[in-house]
Amino acid sequence: MPGINDTMMQYFEWYLPSDSTLWNKLTKESKHLENIGVTHLWLPPAYKGAGGKNDVGYGVYDLYDLGEFDQKGAVQTKYGTKDEYVEAIKVLHENNIKVLADIVLNHKMGADETEDVLAVEDDASNRNISLTEAKTIRVWTKYTFPGRGDMYSNFKWNWTHFHGIDWDENSGKTAIYKFYGKHWDEDVDKENGNYDYLMGADIDLNNVDVVKELKRWGKWYTSTTLVDGYRLDAVKHIRAEFFPEWLWEMGRDTDKRYFAVGEYWSSNIDVINEYIGKTNGCMSLFDVPLHYNFYRASISNGEFNMSHIFDGTIVGTNPSKAVTFVDNHDTEPGQALESWILDWFKPLAYALILLRKDGFPCVFYGDYYGIPEKQINGKIEMLDLFIKLRKYFAYGEQIDYFYDKNVIGFTRLGDYDHPNSGLAVVMSDSTGGCIQMNVGKKLANTIFYDCTGNMQEPVYVDNDGNGIFYCKDGSVSVWIKQGQQVN
Ligand code: CA
Repeated sequence: MPGINDTMMQYFEWYLPSDSTLWNKLTKESKHLENIGVTHLWLPPAYKGAGGKNDVGYGVYDLYDLGEFDQKGAVQTKYGTKDEYVEAIKVLHENNIKVLADIVLNHKMGADETEDVLAVEDDASNRNISLTEAKTIRVWTKYTFPGRGDMYSNFKWNWTHFHGIDWDENSGKTAIYKFYGKHWDEDVDKENGNYDYLMGADIDLNNVDVVKELKRWGKWYTSTTLVDGYRLDAVKHIRAEFFPEWLWEMGRDTDKRYFAVGEYWSSNIDVINEYIGKTNGCMSLFDVPLHYNFYRASISNGEFNMSHIFDGTIVGTNPSKAVTFVDNHDTEPGQALESWILDWFKPLAYALILLRKDGFPCVFYGDYYGIPEKQINGKIEMLDLFIKLRKYFAYGEQIDYFYDKNVIGFTRLGDYDHPNSGLAVVMSDSTGGCIQMNVGKKLANTIFYDCTGNMQEPVYVDNDGNGIFYCKDGSVSVWIKQGQQVN
């Protein structure tokens, strides 16, 4: 389980070049990542996708092919070979970084053969309604893995292992096809009536053979790669009981409890908290509502009420289950869930996830290394600084000053394990300003300076630990005790 000041990084973005070099780059970067304060890495799906070397990883073809077999046009995946992947994880462990594997079990793509099957067509906007009688369609559902054969598993997939698909090879028509006699799982998100179906061939996670095989696969994967935990893809399209059982199985033989974070893409906090309840808290969730609050604030020209920035969020209502983030591979420009947070707001957003007590923050690769494909170059301003501030200064009790619609702030009072720790943060999405805040007794009678360099004048903290801390327009300032260097 993550510690109080751990920091995760999502180590990929959508538009990385298909040059199969990511695992090797990671091996070279791991020392640097440890030095800047990264403790956990979320790596992209490591198995062969339908798009071969060009597949980001979510179009899963063969879960057992981690860049080892000549399938889909190449041995390597978009990120490299299996050996390079396993080596990267080994080196990361030597540098005290834990690895979360991206687990995509909702669907498969790129089957080897077709078969004929009876299916009904469901209304795309309400999948509880069938539009047609059952008819024969031809579907890509036979996965025989000729390139791998029976290595690691002899399980071959056919239509009985799926609920439905979106393509009929006979008519060349796209629709939501549900196989005759199958039912979408009930316990999934209610969007579109029933959101079991997302894409590709939807895996039937009620089928006992499938469940058995996916548990077997998970144990093979975990013991082969030695990953430390999981990022679970598309959980709102998967029946809620599946992952608690799967995760329990992963740790059964070793008594290990694996950390997991699920992607439940919804901004409805009630739906999210209901899911956390249904899954008995076995996984954390990405704080999607917080991402959308950041997004709205960033596009509101200073009109967002900053005192409400944590309203309706996971970190605000269920903090121990929140993995907070600013952007990810799906919210990038040009992607399905595009909601890219504007540059000027990014330092504010990162201060709000990295410097506070609650939430396990996840830094996005694209914010750290840039996204050349979209002319987004280099690192977000202050990102290195904030990651280090988290590691060395963001400790102790927290006091919030969320009273104004523009200027908000909070302090961390520091603790005795981290000498001179503690900080004061002030930010505004509009006109700059100041707040009188208390930094606690330990830091009383000192001088503070703004380590972002935005404000030049020091601040005097009195006998009681009170000081008046400033920030400029549309920016964030982070004040620490004078004489302390962050690097
Ligand atoms: Ca599904």
